[in-house]
Amino acid sequence: METQAHLQSCPVCKSRPHHWAVKKCGDDTYAVDRCSECGFAFVNPRPSMEFLKAHYRTSGHGVSLDPPTLESVIAGEAVDPNSTIDAKRMISTIKNLTKDRQNKSHRLLDVGAGYGFFSKEAAINDFQVIAIDLAENERQISKSISGIDPVPTTFEDLELDPSSLSVVLMSQILEHALDVEEWVCKAGQLLETGGVLAIALPNFGSLQRIILQKNDPYICPPDHLNFFTPGSLRNLLKNNGFVVEKIQHVSRIPRSTIQKRMPRMLSPLSRPLFYLVSMALRIVDFLGLGSIINVYATKV
Ligand SMILES: [Zn+2]
Repeated sequence: METQAHLQSCPVCKSRPHHWAVKKCGDDTYAVDRCSECGFAFVNPRPSMEFLKAHYRTSGHGVSLDPPTLESVIAGEAVDPNSTIDAKRMISTIKNLTKDRQNKSHRLLDVGAGYGFFSKEAAINDFQVIAIDLAENERQISKSISGIDPVPTTFEDLELDPSSLSVVLMSQILEHALDVEEWVCKAGQLLETGGVLAIALPNFGSLQRIILQKNDPYICPPDHLNFFTPGSLRNLLKNNGFVVEKIQHVSRIPRSTIQKRMPRMLSPLSRPLFYLVSMALRIVDFLGLGSIINVYATKV
């Protein structure tokens, strides 16, 4: 992997980070540093922007020999409709946070639109949606699913008027960004005062990560480069002119995963086991140890 210089300070709080782990992914190994002041962890040294642009050109899941098709995405969503559930929860929360802004615009930017489930739900809820995605495969699938044609650009290169948006949505994307401070600062410039920045990403402070440490599947460079706890994300948002309004924890195990791992003779038990595991995960979320966090912040 082509890399940039080694960062000497934490991108969130500027303290000096320490070495945390070495993670092997595919044929490459990556060093992960962690900041003991704010809890943020990050791949260090960073990849170059040229590397990331090439990495995501064809597929948002990195260079893949077998990228998903529209048919496989729709079939997967029919079995485990997780993207639809996530989109409905996030757009409904955003709508609640923006409901008193009658005279303001309802322009929503979907950064890294992926397969378009969030753009679709936003459009259903009367937002004027602008979507961006680097990956050609994702853009085609997203257009079919949401009816919105994403712009092929990085967030860094996107040109929009300042204060022209009421919502910036970053679902499962900030963990891929090269410069997290630049992204949050730019979101602040594009949003009107009172506008909402909504972020979904893996929780570095989750029970799963505490148990698995560097073997947590969300620690997967060069796709994921940034590992936030709720506290370190709150810090980054506060430092860039945002106030955090709400944090949701979301943990789940897909029903299809349980079904696949059950011996055939025990398959009638897969449904009650799924509900039992789901109940246990609700407790994990309640304790603030969920695998994914949804963070909603307003620009002050
Ligand atoms: Zn820090």
